[in-house]
Order: sequence, then C-alpha cells, then structure tokens
Amino acid sequence: MNNTLTRTIKQLGIAAAVVLGILVLNRFLPPQHNPLRPIDLTDPIGIATHFKLARIKDDHGLCYSLLDKAEVGYTRLPEDAGTERCPLQDVLVLDRSLMPYSVAPLRMTCHEMAALFIWENDVVRPLAEEMFASPVEEVLSYGSFSCRNIAGTNRLSEHARANAIDIKGFRLANGEVIDVREHWRETSARGDFLKAVHEGGCKVFSVALSPDYNAAHADHFHFDMGNGSLCR
Ligand SMILES: [Zn+2]
Repeated sequence: MNNTLTRTIKQLGIAAAVVLGILVLNRFLPPQHNPLRPIDLTDPIGIATHFKLARIKDDHGLCYSLLDKAEVGYTRLPEDAGTERCPLQDVLVLDRSLMPYSVAPLRMTCHEMAALFIWENDVVRPLAEEMFASPVEEVLSYGSFSCRNIAGTNRLSEHARANAIDIKGFRLANGEVIDVREHWRETSARGDFLKAVHEGGCKVFSVALSPDYNAAHADHFHFDMGNGSLCR
C-alpha cells in the first residue's frame, strides 16, 4: 500500500472517530453541559451555560420564546424608547418572574432577563429554601437601566444598554432581610448565602461584581451580560 493511501485511510479513521465522539457526547452529555443542545432556561446551570446564553444574544426571536416557555412575563418597549445617548433596542420591561423585585419598571435586554431567570431558578430559590427554609419574597434592587458611565470612567455602563442589574439584598417570606452591605463580610448563614448567590451569578452572567471588587459596589452585586468576563 502506498504512503498516500495509508495517510488517507488514517485521516478517514480520525474523522470517523471525531464524528462518532460528537454523536456519543451529544447523546449522553446532560443538556446543561452540552453546547450542541439548545438552551432551556429551566435547565440546571452547567459548563455550557455561558456559551449558550451568548448564542441567544443576537437571536431575539429565540430569546423571547425561551422567556415565554419559562413563563416570564414581559412587555417589549418600542424601538424609540431610549435617548440619543442611550438608544434602547430590543429592550423589555419585566412584568413577572419567579420572584418580585423592589424596583419597577425593570428594563432589560432579553438575554439579561433570561440570565436573571436562570439565576433566580437555579441559584437564589434553592439556596433560600436550603439555608433558611423560606422562599424569597422580594429581591431588593437598585434597578437596571440607567443612562450613565461606569463610575470614575468615560465609558458607558452596561446599565446604559439596559444590560445590567444591581441587587442590594433579599427579603425572605419569614421576614428576614439579607443585605449586601451589612452581611457580605459576616460569618453567618446570611454571609454564606450572599457568597453563594454571587458565585452562582458568576456561572450565569458575563460580569458579576460584589463588594470585593471595589468601593462603588460596597452595597450591591452588579450582574451584566456585556462582552466582559469578570467574577469578583
Ligand atoms: Zn451595576
């Protein structure tokens, strides 16, 4: 057998092994870890979650259908809802999610809203049940859309694109209030809960900032779906 034929057979063998490998992975890998399977917002968070959320950024139709399937209530803003400095394109108002927020209206891009739902469903809700045996009655927020720069810079904040939300704490159904400024550094169930919801935020949002990041975040978490990648 000449060398060319041997090489071709080898290459075909490798290609077949790769295809077989992909088919086996696609068949047996759980959906949250499988980048080939479409995202479902009720899937547990997995290693492919960031990748799959990035893929719905530019596919608004798919994003709306995912929110519909997860029974997230929203209203689409008209295209001219923003300002010249902060145009709001494909931005939604959150009408109903898994838990109520202290601020309304919350204006968000679809993929920020999708990420927020995953965080509520797979991070906040189970942790509150597990650690306090109480559901979250209200997420305390400083809001989402705000036409402004990142503090101390001349760069537009992701808030100016309605692509971020600031969370300052949680009020549980049992009356307990968990506050980022007060409890972040506390060695307690409340401190542990805050660390865990921030860590869970890192697995969903592109950028998840806590009081450890800088003094501007001493009293809240910042979660955004911009192009950055930071967990601090
Ligand atoms: Zn923020």
